[in-house]
Amino acid sequence: MASDQSGPYQVAVGQVQRVGGMLGLDQGMIDLLSRPKRELTVNFPVTMDDGTIKVFTGFRVQHNFARGPCKGGIRYHPALTLDEVRALAMWMTWKCATVGLPYGGAKGGVICDPKRMSPGELERMTRRYASEIMPIIGPHVDIPAPDMYTNAQVMAWIMDTYSMNVGYSVPGIVTGKPIPLGGSKGREEATSRGLMYCVREAMAVEGLKRAGATAVVQGFGNVGWNAARLLKDELGLTITALSDSSGAILDKAGLDPVSVYEHKQRTGSVLGYPGATEISNEDLLEMECTVLVPAAMENAITSANADRVKARIVAEGANGPTTPEADLVLDEKGIMLIPDVLCNAGGVTVSYFEWVQDLQFHFWSNAQIRDRLNEIMTYAFARVYATAGAKEVDMRTAAYLLAVGEVVQATKLRGIYP
Ligand code: GLU
Repeated sequence: MASDQSGPYQVAVGQVQRVGGMLGLDQGMIDLLSRPKRELTVNFPVTMDDGTIKVFTGFRVQHNFARGPCKGGIRYHPALTLDEVRALAMWMTWKCATVGLPYGGAKGGVICDPKRMSPGELERMTRRYASEIMPIIGPHVDIPAPDMYTNAQVMAWIMDTYSMNVGYSVPGIVTGKPIPLGGSKGREEATSRGLMYCVREAMAVEGLKRAGATAVVQGFGNVGWNAARLLKDELGLTITALSDSSGAILDKAGLDPVSVYEHKQRTGSVLGYPGATEISNEDLLEMECTVLVPAAMENAITSANADRVKARIVAEGANGPTTPEADLVLDEKGIMLIPDVLCNAGGVTVSYFEWVQDLQFHFWSNAQIRDRLNEIMTYAFARVYATAGAKEVDMRTAAYLLAVGEVVQATKLRGIYP
């Protein structure tokens, strides 16, 4: 089994091998699922504002397209590695299968520090990266979307770059675009809305009352901040602690996510929010609460802290925040973990809605988006929960059994070419 010290790709391969064994797959099939179908590394120059040329490295990895075109985000991060992108691409394959979207998985990214780049530098880097990966993306091939430190503006530049190159507008080349360019209503909050629906279902099956229930959210990017807002506004949970990369804040009486968001917009961090106490990020994860939402990076909950987690439910807003060793500890403690491939799948689900709308040039209302997302997330949760009960496994293993099983079925139906 992969350990806490393993990289994300080793963890991802370990998960497939374990579930492949449980499903009785032969070694050839396990090998096929363990490796990305296609991966591209690009090194490309960008003219910086001071006139110098800087060479950036970017990736696009397509894990599997047995069930449909590849789908997955683009991440900008200084510590990004090809192995991390491989793991994230594989997780997208399982995520799309878990919620029943007709996609395979992909992921991409550029090694860069977007916080230290000007808007012009970011635009030039994005456009050049988009041009470099153009040979392997397309609205029926591989459809990128936002991920960590990329947003609707970045998607707009990718859509424009692709469209300029082919000579006509192709809104379906990326999802997570601004609404005037063919973006979907509800995409921005979609990951968090899907998470909120999962938490609602998990609390119901666990018999937890909403009145007096509390939530702690790690990470205050798009997923974390919207999760805090929706858990408070739609489920009535009290948000007792929040964090971002600079630190964490606590207020047992309850924090107002919207006003913390405004504070962060003004000051650059959640720290210094009036009336709140500062705590460490480590303490935040170990707080007594009903729901803990890790919505930051990989490896937040490891064997080093899992036995001190006191939440009743862990709802994975991030991809891969819990290591396999920590999974075992949480399961032994009777904590329900809603795995990333289910819990944060609302984002790619509304991306799918956006793509369908773009291909049809016919757009849906906010109510239609919410109803359809609610339906898909509620059904997926019930299916994973029922499988966990029937097979006597934890929720992550249940999701993997379903997802890997479906990719295997599609692969077998298609047959091995030629
Ligand atoms: N980056 C998001 C994820 O990890 C969304 C991907 C998408 O919408 O294609 O699920």
